[in-house]
Amino acid sequence: MVGTCTALHLAQRGHSVALVDRGAPGGETSYGNSGIIQREAVEPYAFPRDWASLLNVAFKRGMDVNYHFGALPSVLPHLARYWQASGPSRYPLIAAEFSRLIEHSISENASLIAQAGADDLIRRTGYRTVFRTAKAFDQAAEKAQRLALQYGVQHALLDGAALAEAEPALRNSLAGAVHWLDPWSVNDPGALVARYAALFTANNGRFVRGDATSLQPMGKGWRVVTQDGPLEAQHAVIALGPWAETVTRPLGYRLPLFVKRGYHRHYSAVVHRGAANNGAFASESTSGTSPLSIPLLDAERGLVLAPMSRGLRITTGAEFARMGAPSTPVQLYKAEVAARELIDLPPAIEAEPWMGNRPCTSDMKPVIGPAPRHPGLWFNFGHAHQGFTLGAVSGRLLADLLDGKVPLIDAAPYSAGRFGG
Ligand SMILES: Cc1cc2nc3c(=O)[nH]c(=O)nc-3n(C[C@H](O)[C@H](O)[C@H](O)COP(=O)(O)OP(=O)(O)OC[C@H]3O[C@@H](n4cnc5c(N)ncnc54)[C@H](O)[C@@H]3O)c2cc1C
Repeated sequence: MVGTCTALHLAQRGHSVALVDRGAPGGETSYGNSGIIQREAVEPYAFPRDWASLLNVAFKRGMDVNYHFGALPSVLPHLARYWQASGPSRYPLIAAEFSRLIEHSISENASLIAQAGADDLIRRTGYRTVFRTAKAFDQAAEKAQRLALQYGVQHALLDGAALAEAEPALRNSLAGAVHWLDPWSVNDPGALVARYAALFTANNGRFVRGDATSLQPMGKGWRVVTQDGPLEAQHAVIALGPWAETVTRPLGYRLPLFVKRGYHRHYSAVVHRGAANNGAFASESTSGTSPLSIPLLDAERGLVLAPMSRGLRITTGAEFARMGAPSTPVQLYKAEVAARELIDLPPAIEAEPWMGNRPCTSDMKPVIGPAPRHPGLWFNFGHAHQGFTLGAVSGRLLADLLDGKVPLIDAAPYSAGRFGG
């Protein structure tokens, strides 16, 4: 999402742009997410700081967080910085800076969706966070009211009866829900990126398969090896999401990047033909088969149920693991149990769950802007839990900076220099 939007914005400004990817646009993390354009996510996902939550994580009691013991030595230093950034002295400023990007998430996507003719993929009806207990619902209602006052984020509160009326497929009488009214949701996130990529090629952009790790400084510019041969350009933008370090490290940058894995699986009563292949499915249409009308976040368990064109998609919380470590979808299996408490879950479509990596930074803000020590090199990665939401605005911001224009918003809070070069 981030790379495609960056390439699109640059092409629309008249630059000669090649989008280089080893796979298809929208085939990785931007394919497998919950598909919510999260206009309400003005405050980034902070590290829990109360003892009860920390102990739940440490002893793997909940399903929202899991970790591999083997990943701890490499990830703990990042988590320590993440914990500090989540504290009362730093978090309010981080949230204020993050919210300025989120503010433009709907408007920037709206413009690209219209130009890409992607209206058929979009629901403009928000999403709901549901609560099983009255205590959690009351706390969430209070927070929603604060966010409304502080950031203008709109919501409606539904008690158990109103929620049951809004989503008749819900099995239990839940305590209530916060219906976030501003967000949009997408019934096939990978397809939206593919539409943006088609708009990019329609604007004279060129898509080329190639390996970004071959990127090298060359004269006054950059060179990368592609299937069409070597490509040279004055500027190069690294928008590799969770793989950013494969290019930034060899160039000498030590940025506090880590990943939070997530899993998904689809469920549908409709028989699917064909195999899953990184987001490209040959299957029958399943529109209208979802038991839910809009996405639902089960906050106390830590899973999302998102209606997709392929079926109902369950997505999971965060798993700390090394990139490339084997898949351990325990959270997904627990999420299936939790989902069955809520709805009559149709059969799973895929034999194995999908796994992806949220590209995270230790201060919860993405890295957008020039590389501190390499002229002509630009960074656009680290969008963590909201990269699908923020791709469009981040692409525009990067294009503003590269063009030397007054940027849409002040980009200083997202500079790589904040980590000390
Ligand atoms: C379970 C889950 C649910 C989520 N839900 C949401 C949500 O509802 N809303 C939201 O806003 N965000 C959500 N996110 C987060 C969001 O999906 C990510 O932040 C976002 O997709 C990151 O986009 P990206 O373009 O930076 O990375 P990616 O989408 O991973 O793209 C990186 C690209 O780099 C390419 N690449 C990698 N290595 C190389 C190489 N060597 N050479 C060439 N190309 C290479 C890949 O092929 C890929 O196309 C969720 C994430 C997960 C895991």
